[in-house]
Amino acid sequence: MNAPGFGLLLLQTLLVAAGMLLADAPVPWLVAFTTLFAGISAWRVRALLGDAEEDRDVELTRMQGDLRESSEALERERAELSVLMSSISEAILAVDESGKILFFNDRFRAFFGAVGLTERKTTLREVFRASEVADVFQQAQRELNPRHSEVDLSVAGESQPRTFDLAVTPLRSLQGAVYGCVGVFHDVTELKRAERMRIDFVANVSHELRSPLTAIKGYSDTLRSDFEAGRMEDIPGFVDVISRNADRLMALIGDLLDLSSIESGGEIHRQWVMSGELSQRVLRQLEPRRAQRNMNAHVEVEPGAERIYADPGRLEQVLVNLVDNAFKYTQEGGRVRVAWEKGPGGGVRLRVADNGPGIPEESRARIFERFYRVDKARSREVGGTGLGLSIVKHIVQRHGGSVELRSTPGQGTEFLCDFPGPEGT
Ligand code: ADP
Repeated sequence: MNAPGFGLLLLQTLLVAAGMLLADAPVPWLVAFTTLFAGISAWRVRALLGDAEEDRDVELTRMQGDLRESSEALERERAELSVLMSSISEAILAVDESGKILFFNDRFRAFFGAVGLTERKTTLREVFRASEVADVFQQAQRELNPRHSEVDLSVAGESQPRTFDLAVTPLRSLQGAVYGCVGVFHDVTELKRAERMRIDFVANVSHELRSPLTAIKGYSDTLRSDFEAGRMEDIPGFVDVISRNADRLMALIGDLLDLSSIESGGEIHRQWVMSGELSQRVLRQLEPRRAQRNMNAHVEVEPGAERIYADPGRLEQVLVNLVDNAFKYTQEGGRVRVAWEKGPGGGVRLRVADNGPGIPEESRARIFERFYRVDKARSREVGGTGLGLSIVKHIVQRHGGSVELRSTPGQGTEFLCDFPGPEGT
């Protein structure tokens, strides 16, 4: 009860009591006091009830606040989860116990969404025609344990399948009942490719090392037995073979060390290098090879390309490999042209062209691979390691540039290396 209400009641009671008093009647006195007492008690009860109501209001307001906070926290968590799910590089899919999709992330849609995905409608078997994915989900659900499997799956917009490491875990409610499974598709295609390349590389290196070593071992054994038997006439020839194979081993090991130092991120120290001077130095270095094959070589430097911002040692390696190849694979008496031009974006372009046999179309995509050769026998014969172009590509790329090959079979080959300028690096 509020204060005016209480005042009115008191006034009422006092008026009744006063009336009674004036009437000098004892019974009405009692009535008046009873009324006054009852009025005060009623006011006290009302006041108490009012307190409880107020308490309840406060409690309700507090609960409303709590509820709002929880729902805001829930909303925030949901938003965070959604950002997390869409930024994750793995594809994620959850299905219920009947195989119907519960949810999936953006990456899953990008990989496998070609069929059109609808939550609670599309089934696992509609997305993946091959049964192996559904089988992994089923196993995890049946055995109530996470399952792992490697699966090759077609993905949208790619002709080759990708390899995924699929991890499926059962989904449990708070009460512990399993109501579906969540699968994480981790794309391991690149990892597998790198692993395969590493295995191939080790196999190739062993193979490349074995041939010269076998020759050295074989010829040195024969040399010894001939020497012990006093047969001297073949000895110079044997020593020659041993020496050539030792050179081959050294070239191979030198190239392998170069490649590994470039690939493992060995420092590139850029500075201004005079392109003309460098070219002449390389030609002098390769003079024996040029003379041996009676080649014709010349250098051209376009205005603006007199100097190039690169690591001098590495740039020399690029030029040696390209010019040496041109000398090695072009027919005797052929022509080789080294040209320096202004390149795109303020950089410098190096061209090394020959009028040799060219590189067949089908080999061009693989020519920069380690140990790839168009003609293995020819490469071995001229002392090739199969690593030269791979080294060239890596060096140019470490400079932030790119390499291109242009070739017309029967007419010649041209390698173009674009090096960025100082501000483009
Ligand atoms: P190699 O040590 O065998 O020369 P490279 O990596 O330098 O290895 O070259 C790979 C292959 O590319 C060579 O074996 C050769 O078949 C081919 N090749 C490279 N340069 C030329 C060229 N200028 N003309 C024709 N073929 C070439």
